[in-house]
Amino acid sequence: MLQGKTALVTGSTSGIGLGIAKSLAKQGANIVLNGFGDAEGPKAEIAALGVKVAYHGADMSKASEIEAMMAFAADTFGRVDILVNNAGIQHVAKIEDFPVERWDAIIAINLSSAFHATRLALPAMKAANWGRIINLASIHGLVGSAEKSAYVAAKHGVVGLTKVTALENATTGVTCNAICPGWVLTPLVQKQVDAKAAAMGLSNEEAKKQLLQEKEPSMQFTTPEELGELAVFFCSAAGNNVRGVAWNMDGGWTAQ
Ligand code: NAD
Repeated sequence: MLQGKTALVTGSTSGIGLGIAKSLAKQGANIVLNGFGDAEGPKAEIAALGVKVAYHGADMSKASEIEAMMAFAADTFGRVDILVNNAGIQHVAKIEDFPVERWDAIIAINLSSAFHATRLALPAMKAANWGRIINLASIHGLVGSAEKSAYVAAKHGVVGLTKVTALENATTGVTCNAICPGWVLTPLVQKQVDAKAAAMGLSNEEAKKQLLQEKEPSMQFTTPEELGELAVFFCSAAGNNVRGVAWNMDGGWTAQ
């Protein structure tokens, strides 16, 4: 379905980003990976799916590095047809104790990076009259949780950016939508499981159950593969007129 298209997925050396990159590659899209840590393993996993893969290590907190990454993607594959703004970090603390440097980093990586990549991707998408921008927001783009001020503010911002991007391009073949997962068991969430286990003297399994019990009626984690399939749907012809939605995949979190 996506043969000949190029997808750039930020923060795709791990977790949800890697899952989405794999789902898009299975549909035939060439992939530009980004993120910290080991890139060779993820690159090999994508190449094994029979598509071309490239990697750029831009730090998504820096506009100049995002500009270099977008130029690299255009040089390598011609243009970016599908942009998945996924890179994100978390920090948990009450507002009065929240480190200012962590606030700035979360706003930069979780929110401003999506603005920068979007503004740089749009001209080529509009010229081709086809494009897909998929923003990884979160259930925290729709509701709040204590001790996550920067994350919740950034993710609400991502949902707003999604709506404006969709509206500004509503008469074109470029769509923009957000995905709002509940709990997904990636390294980002495992850190929160570990913190809960340590604070409450629980085993890893007990801490995971406790985390789910607080918010997620299904008592199940959403998987990166399931989120990848939602991204594939947004890229399909059936998604042509899906514009500006914030689509939750949250085990019933926000149905309560
Ligand atoms: P993760 O920690 O597994 O992966 C995050 C990715 O972002 C990694 O590849 C990492 O290297 C990259 N990254 C971090 N800082 C970066 C930077 N400055 N520049 C470039 N890359 C950077 O996390 P995840 O759970 O897969 O999260 C992916 C996205 O999904 C995030 O936006 C997160 O907020 C969102 N999300 C996650 C959950 C969840 O339960 N895990 C729920 C809702 C939303």
